Amino acid sequence: FPDRYIDISMTIYGKGERLLLMRDTTRIKQLEQMRQDFVANASHELKTPLTVLKGYLESILDFGEDLPPAFQKALGNMNNQTQRMENLVNDLLVLTRLEAEVQHSVRQRVNVAELLESIAQDARDLSQDRDHRIEVRIDSEAALQGDPKELRSAVSNLVYNAVNYSPDGSHIQLQWHESTAGGFISVRDDGIGIDSRHIPRLTERFYRVDPSRSSERGGTGLGLAIVKHILQHHQGHLDVSSTPGKGSVFTCCFPADRVLPVTQPSTVSGD
Ligand code: ADP
Repeated sequence: FPDRYIDISMTIYGKGERLLLMRDTTRIKQLEQMRQDFVANASHELKTPLTVLKGYLESILDFGEDLPPAFQKALGNMNNQTQRMENLVNDLLVLTRLEAEVQHSVRQRVNVAELLESIAQDARDLSQDRDHRIEVRIDSEAALQGDPKELRSAVSNLVYNAVNYSPDGSHIQLQWHESTAGGFISVRDDGIGIDSRHIPRLTERFYRVDPSRSSERGGTGLGLAIVKHILQHHQGHLDVSSTPGKGSVFTCCFPADRVLPVTQPSTVSGD
């Protein structure tokens, strides 16, 4: 069937009987492609006017102290909202790119301890005023085979969520451990936790347990969808366990063949 997508499955019953099912999924694939193209194009078109708006706002804010207080307040709010829109557009662009890539080719050796230390340091710098204690625990030195930018983005998303959904001054731990089953990066917080009924839906686009809380903290609702796709690119998955009122553990699980011994040089840079 040239130019058509056909899903084929076979069920084998006893006595050599077989059921062969063929389903033409071309239309579904085409609609999905149209959705992805639309989101990518719309996000791209929004990027330029947003950049211009931000530029003007920043120039006006430079004269902030000469403006009447009501104007200063309005401009401050406009600046925050423009920043939110910019975060949203950027996340949408990242997500559509990730969704479009079926075969992912970047395979570099990423030193796990260096990666986690560097993410923890960025998070400490960014959340200074909230006094979180962010610690890294490495059970055994190792490297991961994968895309350094994507791995950084996945773990950073989890760490910023941990900061956002836990009280000031609380403890956040980034941990690496290995077993015969594979390699695991977990991000543990002592925050608000998540009721079990929400857990299966957390990685859906725009799914939020508490929409007002998420927007208040600058969330786009796309972070965990991005994490899911990055882990799929690495043949891994996300595991979530949580107790409301006590905290959560988000674990990036990687298959054993992605875990390598540590050798130099390594790549952890997000550039
Ligand atoms: P958002 O930008 O809203 O944080 P995410 O996709 O990153 O979007 O997360 C989806 C939802 O999952 C969040 O809105 C929040 O309700 C919940 N969530 C994510 N991480 C945590 C966490 N560490 N503790 C409690 N809730 C969390």
